[in-house]
Amino acid sequence: MSTEVDVVIVGAGAAGLAAAIELQSTNLKFLVLEARNRIGGRVCTDEETFTRAKVDLGASWIHYYGPENVLYDYYVSFNCGKKQPRHSGYRICFDYDGEYFSSETKFHARSICAKLYQHIELFTCKNKNKEDQSIEQVIQTEYERLVPNGPIKRLVNLMLSGEEEYEGSNFENLSAKYYGLEDGSSCDKWVSCGYENLLKFIVKKHNLSIQLNTFVTHINTIDSDRIAIKTSNDSSIIYCRRVIITIPLGCLKRETILFEPPLPDWKRNAINQMGMGLMNKLIVQFSTSFWDSDMCSFLHACNKQRGRFRHTICSHAPENILILFVTGNFARELEALTDSEILEEIMKFLRQIFPTQSISEPVKYKFTRWGQDTLAYGSYSNIAVHASPDTMKQLAKETSDGHVHWAGEHANANDGTENWSFGCVHSAFQSGQRAAKTVRSQLCSS
Ligand SMILES: Cc1cc2nc3c(=O)[nH]c(=O)nc-3n(C[C@H](O)[C@H](O)[C@H](O)COP(=O)(O)OP(=O)(O)OC[C@H]3O[C@@H](n4cnc5c(N)ncnc54)[C@H](O)[C@@H]3O)c2cc1C
Repeated sequence: MSTEVDVVIVGAGAAGLAAAIELQSTNLKFLVLEARNRIGGRVCTDEETFTRAKVDLGASWIHYYGPENVLYDYYVSFNCGKKQPRHSGYRICFDYDGEYFSSETKFHARSICAKLYQHIELFTCKNKNKEDQSIEQVIQTEYERLVPNGPIKRLVNLMLSGEEEYEGSNFENLSAKYYGLEDGSSCDKWVSCGYENLLKFIVKKHNLSIQLNTFVTHINTIDSDRIAIKTSNDSSIIYCRRVIITIPLGCLKRETILFEPPLPDWKRNAINQMGMGLMNKLIVQFSTSFWDSDMCSFLHACNKQRGRFRHTICSHAPENILILFVTGNFARELEALTDSEILEEIMKFLRQIFPTQSISEPVKYKFTRWGQDTLAYGSYSNIAVHASPDTMKQLAKETSDGHVHWAGEHANANDGTENWSFGCVHSAFQSGQRAAKTVRSQLCSS
């Protein structure tokens, strides 16, 4: 038995949902196939593990929040910000032993960082037509010249690792040539009621129908007017005139879908070149909070490894939750450990930062492993050394003579709009809208 539709959308994350909404205003017959048993992809809210708390395991902020953001109107009509205020208070910066930094140390560290970033920017401007280098390579000599050992070094490392946290990769993997490609002045809105609930609200509002538990295994475009799609569900084939692929870059790198004929070299090169960052959340719930209830988050300057347990968010009573953000190489190291080994590392860290507190074991915990998630293989994309904005254009470019379309946070090519971004939920949403609009113009005008 086979099914015939006009369009198949693969994946029901933000990009897939946006594409579906766009196609709904047409007469086209379409299907959204999603491998997981839920919508949202890397937007995923855990409402079960923790007592009296909803915790986002993936995205939690709407970046570039404002009326121009494609999610703004949804967020405003969902009105979830008012339902559950959280994470308000001050943010503090701890040295590795829980001490504070002196104003003098802060002053020195800030001015060194400013010089290092100037150095990267100079490289970026001067090397437009030259070979790329990693950020690490570019700053290495200046770093060694400028940074003295001791507290200033720890604080400089903490400041530099902010960029690494945002990108989900260490400086050794990130392009210096395209450093600062996005406008850095993002205004962020925490989706306090759970980001997945916002996407569920969108699905409900548009009455979208999604076919869950359907893993696409093969896409055959030998007859590009009648694309054949196989899933792991059964042997039946779905035929369509166009397909919009929104699976994560990590899955494209691992070739989790078999393409027949294989993807062209330029597309495969772009997939290989673009970087896939890793960010994980280590969530621990305690019976009481041992941290200051006015503190909403804290940073930590490690004396061993740059960026180790860099950033933690605190939820006050009754939640009593800490969310530790770990990224890049350190996140990868942790993914290789068992849960109890990770917990041991966390407890060692917390007891070092709060040496005067008696900290009992957490009552609940959960650690994400997005790098091992076979439907993501990573957290979000970045511009790796030798990748460029053109790489993203190639990732977004159609294949099979305009029959196969590509969307997702990694494929949101810069269309010249202000606040352009990639790697985010709203960027994925924009990319899905764009791909579906192209499909609509192809099929509805013919
Ligand atoms: C820990 C973490 C924190 C983050 N924080 C933020 C944040 O605060 N703000 C922000 O804007 N962004 C954040 N992001 C990034 C954001 O989550 C992603 O950019 C965005 O959700 C990507 O949407 P997408 O539609 O491109 O991909 P996805 O959401 O991954 O959707 C792709 C879908 O395809 C499905 N799929 C994969 N393979 C197949 C297949 N073969 N067949 C069928 N279906 C398949 C997947 O199951 C998935 O549902 C974060 C990500 C992580 C992991």
